[in-house]
Amino acid sequence: MTQDKSSFKDFRVSRRNFLGTAAIGAAAIGGTALAASALKPNFASAALGAQSAKGIAEVRGDGKVSRVVSRAAPLPVPSNWSQVADVVIVGYGGAGAVTAITAYDAGANVLVLEKTPSYASLGVTNPAITGGGGSTSMNAGNATYVKDPLNGANYIYQQSWGNTPMAVCESLAWMEVENPAWLTQMGIKYTLSSTTGEFPTLPGGALGFGGMSLASGNVFFQQLDALVQKRNIPILFNTPATDLFQDPTTGEILGVQALANNSEVLNIQAKKAVVLTTGSIEYNETMKSDNMRVYPAHFYGWQFCTGDSVTMASKVGAAMWHMGAMSARMVPWFPQYPIAFGTCAPGQHGWIYVDKNGNRYADETEISTYSHNWWIKLSDFDLTVPQYTRIPSFIIFDETCRKAAAITSGSNGQLPVYLDPRPVWSSDNSAEITRGWIQSGKDIPTLVAAMNSTAYVGMTPGTNNYSPAANTAVNINPATLQATLNNYNGFCTAGVDTQFGRPKSALIPIVTPPFYAMPLWPGGPSAFGGPVRNEKGQICDADNNPIPRLYTAGESGSTDGMLSLGANNAQIIAFGRISGSNAASENPWA
Ligand SMILES: Cc1cc2nc3c(=O)[nH]c(=O)nc-3n(C[C@H](O)[C@H](O)[C@H](O)COP(=O)(O)OP(=O)(O)OC[C@H]3O[C@@H](n4cnc5c(N)ncnc54)[C@H](O)[C@@H]3O)c2cc1C
Repeated sequence: MTQDKSSFKDFRVSRRNFLGTAAIGAAAIGGTALAASALKPNFASAALGAQSAKGIAEVRGDGKVSRVVSRAAPLPVPSNWSQVADVVIVGYGGAGAVTAITAYDAGANVLVLEKTPSYASLGVTNPAITGGGGSTSMNAGNATYVKDPLNGANYIYQQSWGNTPMAVCESLAWMEVENPAWLTQMGIKYTLSSTTGEFPTLPGGALGFGGMSLASGNVFFQQLDALVQKRNIPILFNTPATDLFQDPTTGEILGVQALANNSEVLNIQAKKAVVLTTGSIEYNETMKSDNMRVYPAHFYGWQFCTGDSVTMASKVGAAMWHMGAMSARMVPWFPQYPIAFGTCAPGQHGWIYVDKNGNRYADETEISTYSHNWWIKLSDFDLTVPQYTRIPSFIIFDETCRKAAAITSGSNGQLPVYLDPRPVWSSDNSAEITRGWIQSGKDIPTLVAAMNSTAYVGMTPGTNNYSPAANTAVNINPATLQATLNNYNGFCTAGVDTQFGRPKSALIPIVTPPFYAMPLWPGGPSAFGGPVRNEKGQICDADNNPIPRLYTAGESGSTDGMLSLGANNAQIIAFGRISGSNAASENPWA
């Protein structure tokens, strides 16, 4: 049955009820995950086979056909199901884990599907987690949350550029207020601090937020995983969901089709609801190039986030939003590895960023101030070329900076190599020079000659044009880069950057040869594109009507719109609880 769009008042009542009664299940701790046994990782995306589009009738709550919409042909609903659960959760990252815990504690029988293999099946000994983990298992532990619901909701609304309805912002804000209480109840460790939003001048930005630190790396996910294990919630690893089963008359989502171990098709019945928590579109080039406002964009999170919820939910009539939104800055990326490296803003040493023409364009230290939103600066576009002028950008530095420390972070070493094949970045950047990732020159003309003769994926020779198929050079004028450097070094001598206002403490000259350059691309931890959600976590169609029994949480259709809050952890904790409790409270259809 279609749930009517409940008011926010109703939501708050159910939220309070949930928090008042949620109790940790009493199941014994133990090796309880249903780890799929196949050794081969499964990289299949949700798009399995082409489906012909056809018009199907959309039936309103009163039973009348209101209009005909164009959708992919629905999968025939099976008469025999391979497995049955009340709530099926697709994606075992942070949002999936919080949703699973919440739905279970609300009395539902829960099944989780995860695309990647269990660590046990990979032969990883003493793994901290059973498997999955997504970007949640890689993160830095910042969990800035809403402290004051009214200011917080206003800020979330403002930073989305009005694109996320206020009811959804309020729902998130009210739930985030109780994040500390929930974490305490679950026994998850955190510390609180004071903070403001990244844009304190936006309404609510200075007042709405509290700082929270969770343990970094996979420790936060490890704690969630332990809570899932304690409840004996089954997880089918190496089992990507590929499609949703939808009742052709009512539009209800009845279950999930999944591919276990690259071979076995499972038709899984969801008696109450399906929750999509598959992360966003970070590693889907087609979705990124079609939607992002800067491209290419390269991410350093979980490489199995390939927009599967977008593919699956759009086939059952869901609308998408925030497909161009991301939490990103500028990162090194090299075609040998799918995963990018961390931000390059070395400590107290001389370095600058320049565009494709060799010009500075900003106070570079702002990349730390606006660490979730710097990417917007890269959208400058020269119509006469026509191309982006700052993609790629380059970091320029000297020998003193080179020797001081790694200019970026490499692999975090917490994941099996097949999940994160990046080499660890060398402490003096020498290995990366040898690899040809960093160009060098005894003076600026020599450096520019090296930069111009290097193949940057996507650049057309001599034109600065981006071309998806090209793998060629930029064309910087050495005199331009020399002038840029001379100007910058002059600012360092004078102690003031009259061009962009880089702070005096960061005005450190770039004077000691050899000189170095490395390309930087838009990118960072997360994207936010996915299905539109309402205040209950239900996935909606283009008219904002919920698709019955279909929910989402986490990055997949996050509330972050134009600007990133940099608060994904807080959101997975909050919307995991919203969607988990509402999914569990559905009346079973079978
Ligand atoms: C290095 C790094 C540092 C970060 N630091 C912070 C921070 O300090 N603070 C913060 O708030 N955020 C941070 N983030 C972002 C944050 O970690 C993520 O936004 C968040 O964890 C996303 O959670 P999620 O559950 O939505 O997705 P994920 O954790 O990515 O989980 C999605 C899961 O779904 C699975 N999946 C995908 N498709 C399918 C399918 N078809 N079937 C079954 N399973 C599927 C994936 O394999 C994955 O396990 C960081 C991210 C990174 C990479």
